[in-house]
Amino acid sequence: MSEMQENKIRDQVREWLERSWDPDLSLLEWRKRLVEGRWAVPSWPEAWYGREYPVWADEIVRFEILQTGAVSTPIGAGMNLAAPTILKHGGESQKKRFLEPALTGQESWCQLFSEPGAGSDLAGLTTHAELDGDEWVVSGQKVWNTSAHHADLGLLVARTDWEVPKHRGLTYFVLPMNQHGVEIRPLMQMNRHSSFNEVFLDEARIPKDHIIGSAGDGWAGALTTLAFERGFTSLKKPQYAVSNSRVIEEAKVESEEHFKVYSWYPQRAGRIDLIREHAERNNQNTDRVIRQEIVRAIMLYRIGQWTMARARAGRKLGRAPGAEGSIGKLMSSNVARQANKVHTLLAGAKGMLTYTQDEFNEVIAEILISTPAKSIAGGTDEIQRNIIGERVLGLPREPSVDKSIPFRDVPRN
Ligand SMILES: Cc1cc2nc3c(=O)[nH]c(=O)nc-3n(C[C@H](O)[C@H](O)[C@H](O)COP(=O)(O)OP(=O)(O)OC[C@H]3O[C@@H](n4cnc5c(N)ncnc54)[C@H](O)[C@@H]3O)c2cc1C
Repeated sequence: MSEMQENKIRDQVREWLERSWDPDLSLLEWRKRLVEGRWAVPSWPEAWYGREYPVWADEIVRFEILQTGAVSTPIGAGMNLAAPTILKHGGESQKKRFLEPALTGQESWCQLFSEPGAGSDLAGLTTHAELDGDEWVVSGQKVWNTSAHHADLGLLVARTDWEVPKHRGLTYFVLPMNQHGVEIRPLMQMNRHSSFNEVFLDEARIPKDHIIGSAGDGWAGALTTLAFERGFTSLKKPQYAVSNSRVIEEAKVESEEHFKVYSWYPQRAGRIDLIREHAERNNQNTDRVIRQEIVRAIMLYRIGQWTMARARAGRKLGRAPGAEGSIGKLMSSNVARQANKVHTLLAGAKGMLTYTQDEFNEVIAEILISTPAKSIAGGTDEIQRNIIGERVLGLPREPSVDKSIPFRDVPRN
């Protein structure tokens, strides 16, 4: 990327914003204008709301939009998982039906992958669908589904063929969530938040053409979604200025609602930023053992930042995403674990106290019980190590007994 190219894009979007930003529009009207202006995802193809700019342009354009005080595209499973998966694997009619409402936030999405018996081994899932006339009828159970309780649509992977090996009998559906056959039960977590749900499907109906890719080809789409999930780190809440503008007010409401579910995610990441204050509060900033552990946490964090910077630089040079996704994900688990260790050392038994008057201690207690989730969500640490070993380093694959026989014959409990 040359600086000239970057500056040209910045000038173009600023000039467009000057002409087009209208704070009196509704949020939906504004986002539709953004999509029609081809500034929602400028890296996308011209046929689908884009300008075929390099991938790095998306970040620059988003920055410029927010910098001007305007509103950008929504954050969440629709924009970050559904839209890129449909763009890559969907047919014309799915792209026409689903892309624009995902980019404007008109429809919200959730990811219905994991099951009680299929998490790391996602291809072993047993939720199943059969074609009945013009509809697919789907039954089974999904679990750990973030934001399913307010989603309009679900990214659902289900088994449609039991006679072929497990990866080949899966189909990727778009499930309408608001219907009789879908029961959503929120789960209460040990940190007192309720971000995920169990989703029970009892003969839920899906229109015949709500398939991403083709029947039996769902694994390819699932891998794409998972790759976007690993690379998706930008959970920063947009900071909107105080204003009387309609669109800003609606964007604030949307953002508040969306981030409710994620309010504990900074604690899940370990809160490196609080370590110094924590040590000073407890007068432990001169303890040699604790100082060693603090330095280790900060070192890991910095290395993680460099890995992310390397990934960003690669993208700016137009390189395809590489190993940095898995390495970065693993690194963020290590940072969270080490930060947890430091906060535990500093807090001692007090870290187990909640419902106290001490707000700082409440946050620390939340860090201690939330960081384990970092090593699980979006693929566990062990699975990231398998991916790095097998796909990046080319080590021999894990032995498998169930990849070449019909799924019906695979022993299950
Ligand atoms: C915060 C959070 C948000 C989530 N959001 C969603 C969501 O929106 N939608 C969704 O569908 N799911 C979601 N999940 C679920 C998540 O994808 C699964 O929890 C994850 O894939 C692990 O699956 P599992 O829990 O069934 O554990 P299992 O797969 O049962 O794993 C148990 C343990 O065995 C290890 N293990 C398993 N297989 C291997 C292997 N081959 N080699 C070495 N070790 C192995 C694992 O690393 C782990 O330690 C979320 C989870 C969390 C924590």
